[in-house]
Amino acid sequence: MQTILKETASQLINLVLPPRCVISGEVVDKQGMISASAWRELSFINEPFCNSCGFPFEFEVEDGALCASCLDYPPHFENARAALKYDDGSRALILGFKHADKTYAVKSFMPWMNRAAQNIFQHTDILMPVPLHYTRLISRRYNQAALISSALAKETGIPTINDGLKRTRATVSQGYMDAKGRYKNVKKAFAVNKRYKNSLKGKAVMLIDDVYTTGATVNECAKTLKKAGVNEVYVLTLARAVKEGFG
Ligand SMILES: [Zn+2]
Repeated sequence: MQTILKETASQLINLVLPPRCVISGEVVDKQGMISASAWRELSFINEPFCNSCGFPFEFEVEDGALCASCLDYPPHFENARAALKYDDGSRALILGFKHADKTYAVKSFMPWMNRAAQNIFQHTDILMPVPLHYTRLISRRYNQAALISSALAKETGIPTINDGLKRTRATVSQGYMDAKGRYKNVKKAFAVNKRYKNSLKGKAVMLIDDVYTTGATVNECAKTLKKAGVNEVYVLTLARAVKEGFG
């Protein structure tokens, strides 16, 4: 009975406010769907890519090949994967999700992120979103990484600990920083929530975030988790910067 009521309610809402594509604004069949024209603009990340950070290569490489940056500075995480390239086709989707309350878009991310991490979920014990500092949480009202992590937990059955990591200080917005600036900005900015100290020991954690830019933030989170006794850290993001020298 309750399901019927729920369905009728959502049909009524659809009559008044037809669901719209989160990117193009065109009317679509279901909430969270992407219109065909917007879909064509999205670039999904496929192999070959760096085995460590997931940076896509333009040429075929040997299995397990690493990019120059991972060879020079091996990351603290085992590997990072992303569903989409962060480019002109995906920017509106990601910014809308992050800043404009288009939280329902999270549904459409699930199959994409599932595909990007299909071989890693089986090794993962716990999902954990990259935290926002509470001052930013107040201005934004929600942590987009935690929304993704909760949706993924429902999808995969792997539990998520949304308050597993804390920001110990507010960091400056990293929008225009280069890699060096970003690494400095997030240094020692995280701590493991004491409540989970024992339960995280020896576990494999998958860090969840919306965008991987230089990897500075997830790398610092991975370092913090490993110091607390976590065995393996994987990273899964919705999108990833793919241009060299991306700020
Ligand atoms: Zn790499």
